[in-house]
Amino acid sequence: MHFSSKLLEQAVEEFGKLPGVGKKTALRLVLHLLKQSKEDVNRFSQAFTQLKEHIKYCKHCFNISDTDTCEICQSPKRDRTTICVVEDTRDVMAIENTNQYQGVYHVLGGLISPMDGVGPADLRIDGLVDRVRQGDIKEVILALSATMEGDTTIFYLYRKLQEFSIEVSTIARGIAFGGELEYVDEVTLGRSIMTRVPYERKVG
Ligand SMILES: [Zn+2]
Repeated sequence: MHFSSKLLEQAVEEFGKLPGVGKKTALRLVLHLLKQSKEDVNRFSQAFTQLKEHIKYCKHCFNISDTDTCEICQSPKRDRTTICVVEDTRDVMAIENTNQYQGVYHVLGGLISPMDGVGPADLRIDGLVDRVRQGDIKEVILALSATMEGDTTIFYLYRKLQEFSIEVSTIARGIAFGGELEYVDEVTLGRSIMTRVPYERKVG
């Protein structure tokens, strides 16, 4: 792609770094922004600089939040004895949309993936174990994607949680193998949480 301006090229390059955005789309977006007023463009860029500067992660569940403790963890209506373990904030949003789950969450921040160099230490697994160790937890629901990485993470977590006298369950897989949680429709996802099953690893 040949650019008539270095500034234009720079902006396109930055947009092109976003997942799923190719050079052509990046150019279209940049040209669109260029047509907007200065105020609009400032508001646009400020939304991201402020996000990056002020965003917090809930100290209990690591969900993205504006405060040290997220709204879900603060709510007196939530059942603190049940923790639903998810990969990231998108999954919390998807499950909250089902209106079926009344417990609290634990956001891992990824899945174990040796191929991508992501090991257990890169995730908030110790935080989860600490929460369980501190007591009052009755059940941990592992609501992770039906992928190799999801299964590996589930098995790892199961072994870590085995020493505690709690129930460990996984969501029913109406979700096809390879399915990611955020793409599952709300009814299916809601049902898979309500019909969760105790986790059993069939070895050998
Ligand atoms: Zn929280």
